[in-house]
Amino acid sequence: MITVSSNPNSLDDNRRQILTQINAAAKRAGRSIQNVTLTAVSKIQPDDRIEAMLETGQRVFGENRVQEAQNRWNDRFKESRAKIELRLIGPLQSNKVPDACDLFDVIETLDREKLLKAFVKYRAHKQTLPRLLIQVNTGQEAQKSGIAPHDLSAFLALCRKTYDIHPEGLMCIPPQGEAASPHFWLLKNLATENALPVLSMGMSNDFETAVKMGATHVRLGTALFGARDYK
Ligand SMILES: *Cc1c(COP(=O)(O)O)cnc(C)c1O
Repeated sequence: MITVSSNPNSLDDNRRQILTQINAAAKRAGRSIQNVTLTAVSKIQPDDRIEAMLETGQRVFGENRVQEAQNRWNDRFKESRAKIELRLIGPLQSNKVPDACDLFDVIETLDREKLLKAFVKYRAHKQTLPRLLIQVNTGQEAQKSGIAPHDLSAFLALCRKTYDIHPEGLMCIPPQGEAASPHFWLLKNLATENALPVLSMGMSNDFETAVKMGATHVRLGTALFGARDYK
């Protein structure tokens, strides 16, 4: 277990420490920290911690749920919204696509054709779309969303040819209680095979491994903010 102080006054230290670790992991792998973006996962976190995180200069945030993100970034932190990049990292219902597209710069959880249809409809109205990543179910877990690894090429062809939608990368959440590295390795290879430059992988417990294996985006909640207080 990681124990991280959630005191708002220590978030700057938490973040510096994480950036140092990312930098070291990147160096060891012969990569540059410039090519790794730290996404601060703000879901469930209270306002004072988010405020403090914004004050550290952190500018990329990840949210799990559309409605929670709207409440936070269209209301309490509306002023800050323009200054940050906001990424949806949780599952997306097709009826929430317009709200999600209005709010997020990047949606990391494209995982089915129904969403493609909704994106196309949105684009026809608004002439714009967020950047998109495809979620891959690297562990082929029944309860987890994501495209199965062996279906990825066909799904990408569908995106590109049928819908003129061009995802920029892949995202995965490895199975709990398993070594993450085989899943990161698989995702990296799938991205390479399909000429996709962006790789969102690695969370609080395994981000250094993910950086070593080519992550361009790591998604950290607990290690940055402290534990989430689910009530
Ligand atoms: C909550 C969440 C994270 C952050 O998890 P931590 O273990 O707290 O770093 C990262 N990615 C996704 C998809 C999440 O839902």
